[in-house]
Amino acid sequence: MNIEWDKLGFEFMPTKSNIRFTYADGKWGEGRLCNSYEISINVAANCLHYGQAIFEGLKAFRGKDGKIRIFRPDENAKRLNSSAKRLCMPEFPVEKFIEAVKTLLQDNIEYVPPYGTGGSVYIRPVMFGTTPQIGVASSKEYELVIMAMPAGPYYKGGFKPVDAMSVTGFDRAAPHGTGTIKCAGNYAASLLPAKIAKENHCPVPLFLDPKTNEFVDEFGTSNFLAITKDGKYVTPASSSILPSITNKSLMQIAEDIGMTVERRPIHISELAEFAEVAACGTAVVITPIGRIFCGDQVFEYSKEVGANLQKLYDTITGIQYGEVADTHNWTVTL
Ligand SMILES: *Cc1c(COP(=O)(O)O)cnc(C)c1O
Repeated sequence: MNIEWDKLGFEFMPTKSNIRFTYADGKWGEGRLCNSYEISINVAANCLHYGQAIFEGLKAFRGKDGKIRIFRPDENAKRLNSSAKRLCMPEFPVEKFIEAVKTLLQDNIEYVPPYGTGGSVYIRPVMFGTTPQIGVASSKEYELVIMAMPAGPYYKGGFKPVDAMSVTGFDRAAPHGTGTIKCAGNYAASLLPAKIAKENHCPVPLFLDPKTNEFVDEFGTSNFLAITKDGKYVTPASSSILPSITNKSLMQIAEDIGMTVERRPIHISELAEFAEVAACGTAVVITPIGRIFCGDQVFEYSKEVGANLQKLYDTITGIQYGEVADTHNWTVTL
């Protein structure tokens, strides 16, 4: 094994093992560590036709003190279960999920990037229906596989502003209320708008609300947050966005450091007023947005990382790497 920690991006990389659970006869079995990434399923498996496939994303960090901290795995377990519920899939016990993540990390411990490289281990659980069936119905059997891989920055260049473009006319977000679900189907439908944004030199698509196209929803893989000129933290209240655990944590941190937090609808006309804008999520952490292209308008923000975003970034990463007191007991130590 010879990993150049400083050069890590956000790409699939096989590690020693993944951990697998099978659901059959109405219950989840015991976890099995598996050294292969291959899986054999029936061509008629539900997940391939009717899309019973959900996932999660969380990270673990090697701290200054050498300890490995998993960031809020209970929240990911709970969100996995709310996605499962919505797609008629079985829930997975929260404690069993946390134990599985620990077992997986222990077995892949040499893949956790050293402290100081800015890297982390990205943990990706995926659950899918495997029962062969042609009539539309929910699967009877499921597989939950959790894998882990070392990761660096999601957008190349690290903590620097990137451009975003609003994409409209795509109903990814929820004609059936699925915008709140971290599932394969939503992501498949987001690929075309994301491709259009990229073709316009914007790494990040910005989704507006599907009903009126007048309110900000979220970025392609991350929530939207803005800092107003008078220093308030603003983030959309919307029924068609994914409830980000990073955003939830940042709202708490913002309150802790005395900022006013507003979760409310954000009209696109407000984009002209914000001092700082960022995308937030496990993979992107906080990624400042340099410009937003919205119809025939361009909104420009700082070319540098703003002071408020920097403070939020330093605090959340400080908690993750064990440099800042974890006053809310968010991290689980291996
Ligand atoms: C995962 C995800 C996010 C970010 O959620 P975190 O819990 O912060 O990682 C935001 N939007 C979408 C669409 C997502 O899939």
